[in-house]
This record gives sequence, structure tokens and C-alpha cells, in this order.
Amino acid sequence: MNWFKGLKGKIKINELLKKHTTFKIGGRADFFIIPKDAEDLRFVVRQARIHNIKIRIIGAGSNILVSDKGLNHAVVTLDCAYFKDIIIKGSKLETGSGALMSEAILFSQKKSLSGLEFLTGIPGSVGGSLVMNAGVQNKNIGVLVESVSVMGYDGKIKILKRRDLSFGYRRSNLGKYIILGAVLKLRKESREKILKRIKGYFKQRYISQEWKLPSAGCVFKNPSVDFADRPTSPAGRLIDACGLKGKGIGGAQVSFKHANFIINTGKAKAKDVLQLMELIKRQVKIKFNINLEPEIEIWK
Ligand SMILES: Cc1cc2nc3c(=O)[nH]c(=O)nc-3n(C[C@H](O)[C@H](O)[C@H](O)COP(=O)(O)OP(=O)(O)OC[C@H]3O[C@@H](n4cnc5c(N)ncnc54)[C@H](O)[C@@H]3O)c2cc1C
Repeated sequence: MNWFKGLKGKIKINELLKKHTTFKIGGRADFFIIPKDAEDLRFVVRQARIHNIKIRIIGAGSNILVSDKGLNHAVVTLDCAYFKDIIIKGSKLETGSGALMSEAILFSQKKSLSGLEFLTGIPGSVGGSLVMNAGVQNKNIGVLVESVSVMGYDGKIKILKRRDLSFGYRRSNLGKYIILGAVLKLRKESREKILKRIKGYFKQRYISQEWKLPSAGCVFKNPSVDFADRPTSPAGRLIDACGLKGKGIGGAQVSFKHANFIINTGKAKAKDVLQLMELIKRQVKIKFNINLEPEIEIWK
């Protein structure tokens, strides 16, 4: 069924998704599509709708665990020049959703705009970071957002203003759209000061997190969210207190460096990670009577 005939961008059939996730885990997707521009994306969503094909948008694949069996879906990435464009207007950064956070951070630093530095080391795209409201401790990207341009799964484009947006702890109301780009409100500061801060954040991460082996960052949300939607007890500390650092199932292992990271020691399967997550949840429930919830998304 050649439902994608007329596509201007690229398509790969039976693409291995492990090539597109930071976990380096995941089976094949029936279709892996890189639309050329917004018009092409609209073509994809409309055709998929007509032919009853489910679409999933993948960013940098740094917060997902994809099933070993793969997906009978069209996985769409906005990793192309059109969706990676970044420009500055005054003290605002207008960025495509396909740009990496690291690209947005370095671009704004060069233009003497500050505000994004705390996101240093988060290996996501702008789109994925907005959906997840990525952040560190109590600071999240959501606070910087002025507006977001989105496409609905009917192909219609609209601009969501600040008042239309809702961000919480690792969540937003953007998941039902395809994010095309965003306007982020930053502030003027000297390049040197911004760079110094970026280096500081980078160093902090380097010391506290696993970098050498593939992972998807923190696997569980920090529980006990308080009245202001802020996490209060780090999941990593609870997992560590259960003595689970280094615990492995198949090729998946709880990181020695950060207990809320599961790493792929080489040949981990999604099922290994899922079993390890179940074991962690059980142990934390027994010891602390706390139910851990996944931070990563499980795609099956
Ligand atoms: C080493 C490491 C460290 C990390 N540290 C942190 C951290 O400190 N803080 C933190 O918050 N996260 C962290 N993460 C997790 C992850 O990097 C973030 O959640 C990131 O923002 C996800 O972006 P992504 O592009 O990889 O999204 P993906 O994993 O590709 O997708 C995540 C979700 O976003 C959706 N999505 C992606 N792009 C779009 C789009 N354009 N339109 C609509 N939906 C879209 C996907 O469909 C999916 O639902 C870390 C991950 C790793 C591997």
C-alpha cells in the first residue's frame, strides 16, 4: 500500500528504531518518515488518517523505551533543516521543534541570550523537551515559553499562546499535537557569563550521571509531588536505599552512578528494562510503601 506516494521528504521502510533512541533499544517501525517541511508533514498526517495508520512523533528518542517487537506505525521525525531553524528576535528565541536543546542553548549563548543554560546536558529535541516539560529540580522549560506553533492530527496549524498552555512536573498539554516550533523568552547577558554557567551545569551532570553507556535518563518520576506540583523525594535515593545499584536483568542494569538510570550494557532488550523496572517498583513499594511511576514513555 503506497499511501505515502507524493511525499517530498524521506521515508524508510522497516526502520530499526534502536538507531533513533538513546537507549539503543527498539524493534522496527513499519514506516520512518522525515517530512521536508510543514506542507509535507500535513500531507503525511492527512494520508495516514485516510489509511488508518497511527503516527508517532519521535524527537531525539531520549525519553522513550521502544518495544523489541517494533511498531506497526509511521514514526515521524522533524530532524530536517526546515524544522531545525533557530532565529533571534530581540530577546526572544524562535526555534523549530526539531532542533536539539543543545543547539538552542549554544545558539542563544552566541547571541548573548540567557535562560536556557539549566537545560545543559539534556539530550532531547526542543519538541520532546516541551512535551515532557524537561527540566532540572524545580526549573522547567515551560516557564520560558511564550507561544508554541502546533499541527493537529487533522493537518491544521495553530499558535498556542501562554494562556493555552499548561506545564507540570514532566508533563504538558502538548502531547495531543505535533509541535512545529516555539518562541522562548530569554534575557540579555554577556556571552562569557552564560558560557561559564553552561560549563558549570555540564560539570555537575558529568559528575552525577552515567554518560558512557546508553540510557534514557531518569526512568522514574520523583514521587510525592507537593501542592505546587514539585517533586519532593528523589526516586534515585529510594532505589539506592533498596540496595539496587548495579542490579541487572539481561543487558539492563541499574547505574552505579545514578540509581534512577537504567543503562544498556550492550545487548539490552526492552523486556529486560521492563522487568528491571518492575523489580525496582516492587522493592520500593515494599520498603517505603511508595508507588514509583515511569518518567520514560513506553512505546508498544
Ligand atoms: C542522559 C540523559 C539525561 C537526561 N536528563 C534529563 C533531565 O535532566 N531532565 C529531563 O527533564 N529529562 C532528562 N532526560 C530525558 C529526555 O532527554 C527529555 O525528556 C527530553 O526532553 C526528551 O526529548 P526528546 O526529543 O528526546 O523526546 P523523545 O524521547 O523523542 O519523545 C518524548 C515525547 O515527546 C514527543 N515528541 C517529541 N517531539 C515531538 C514533537 N515535535 N511534537 C509532538 N510530540 C513530540 C514524543 O512523541 C514522546 O511522546 C535525560 C535523558 C538522558 C538520555
